[in-house]
Amino acid sequence: MTDRPTPDYTTSMRSIRCGDLRADDIGTEATLCGWVDSVREHGEHLAFVDLRDRSGVVQVVVDGGHELRSEFVLQVTGTVRARPEDTANESLATGMVEVAAADVTILARSEPPPFPIDDRTDVDEVLRLRHRYVDLRRARLQRNLEVRAAVNSAVRGAMEEQGFIEVETPMLIASTPEGARDFVVPSRKEPGSFYALPQSPQIFKQLCMVGGVDRYYQIARCLRDEDLRADRQFEFMQLDAEASFVDQDDVLGFISHAVGAAVEAVTGERPGEFPRMTWLEAQERFGSDKPDTRFGLELVELTEVFAATEFRAFQAPCVKGIRVPGGAEVSRNRLDELTEQCKQWGAKGLVWMRVEAEGLNSPVVKFLADDEMDALRTAMGAEDGDLLFLVADERRRARHVLGLLRLALGRPLVTEGGLNFLWVVDFPLFEGFDEAGNPIPAHHPFTMPHEEDLGLLEAGELLEVRSQAYDLVVNGWELGSGSVRIHRREVQEMVFATLGIGAEEAQSKFGFLLDAFRFGAPPHAGFAFGMDRLVAILAGEENIREVIAFPKTQSGADPLTGAPTTIDDHHLDELGLRVLPPKQ
Ligand code: ASP
Repeated sequence: MTDRPTPDYTTSMRSIRCGDLRADDIGTEATLCGWVDSVREHGEHLAFVDLRDRSGVVQVVVDGGHELRSEFVLQVTGTVRARPEDTANESLATGMVEVAAADVTILARSEPPPFPIDDRTDVDEVLRLRHRYVDLRRARLQRNLEVRAAVNSAVRGAMEEQGFIEVETPMLIASTPEGARDFVVPSRKEPGSFYALPQSPQIFKQLCMVGGVDRYYQIARCLRDEDLRADRQFEFMQLDAEASFVDQDDVLGFISHAVGAAVEAVTGERPGEFPRMTWLEAQERFGSDKPDTRFGLELVELTEVFAATEFRAFQAPCVKGIRVPGGAEVSRNRLDELTEQCKQWGAKGLVWMRVEAEGLNSPVVKFLADDEMDALRTAMGAEDGDLLFLVADERRRARHVLGLLRLALGRPLVTEGGLNFLWVVDFPLFEGFDEAGNPIPAHHPFTMPHEEDLGLLEAGELLEVRSQAYDLVVNGWELGSGSVRIHRREVQEMVFATLGIGAEEAQSKFGFLLDAFRFGAPPHAGFAFGMDRLVAILAGEENIREVIAFPKTQSGADPLTGAPTTIDDHHLDELGLRVLPPKQ
């Protein structure tokens, strides 16, 4: 992490931290405080203790008779000396020195810890979370929390440098429009009424714009009651920002600067300008709206190649393929597995072909004309030893399946391939239709349609309408999204109507926003990105739980505090609530 002036860690109880001792300190007296990482007894009279604090460990030599155990908290005073030549440990920052203890005070005793505190042991997650205070003592988690703090601080600094001011928005609100399920809080004063916890500060930040705060930001806690996955928690932090009198380019500039500062704070290097790609190009080339551009295996368009084919399976609106250079060695078993996978992802099937000197080797070659095979090889740039995969289907589905297949074939680990940031722009306004036939907003209902596509919106060609929405993607993770907002009441009403939200419903759900727009709403746009994900990537962690001090398990429980818990009848009465028996 970038250098800052080193704070003075001296307190009334210690003179220096364990991990800060170096050869320069040899000959000085030090008072240390920390936890016993390990004890190695040497006969009756001598013990080697690794003493640990946030900064690391140092070896302390104590005479016998102290009865020290793992995780006891000690204060040790002694002389720093060089370790005997043959016992120096170069892999440890303090490995050249040890402290010869003259005085050892046990500040606190510890029961045997529930698991060893090192980064090598694989411990059951529930056990880790139940004793998170012990888990947090691991070097890896200490480092992750430091990375997190550095990212928070860099992002704040970068936003403030650009004239944004931090505004706090409320936690107890009416529903928000992010499209997930709300967490709700019952009202005691008005039994039967509920507050929602914010899925994001979206509406408030737009109200801030109407309120003349022309550059708002907040590192905001957001809550969404959704099924958890590795990269999701019920509550998460996002850098939330909004600005007035700006367009998309301005916002991308602000956010790139903040993300760049965060990267620099952790890696010491500022990333170059983030490239841009339209949503359509991302879908066509990578089969995803969050392409992982660290590796190739791009999707190749083949629809024309098979335009006149006799092969029924390829008589589809779209044929696309992926070429795996040198992949022909792959076993038949693996090919069957991948085929099965693709079916689960929604494809009718997966065609594979090995490229060999004699020609293409595949169960389907007998159905293909020679010129088709030639054209296929040319289109894909196929060479001997390659493996080709083809999917024929509706265009959206073909892209989707091949996009997933591409990841399964080539996605690097989180720690590999550097950081590939990418802006994906020109998202569609709607991503499809719900069961009632109403379009589903791809972002949220306040997103401004592309000016050029307003005609399409009026004409009802909904899936063709592009929006002024954009995502920031890094290494195939969606880091965040934003959009230029609708600030004109009539456009907002038209979008609501298209979404099947009638005037009355719109007024009851978002009336306060629509009302605000009657009093001079400036053009505005904004963005939000997930701090947890950014920190995880920068810390080299796959799972965001590793970068959150007190996360929940995959099932949303907190093994440490026992949340969620029941509440007593008296409390329920006060809230006017009754709990139904569990559903059968
Ligand atoms: N509120 C949006 C979200 O949380 C981000 C934005 O549009 O600013 O995803």
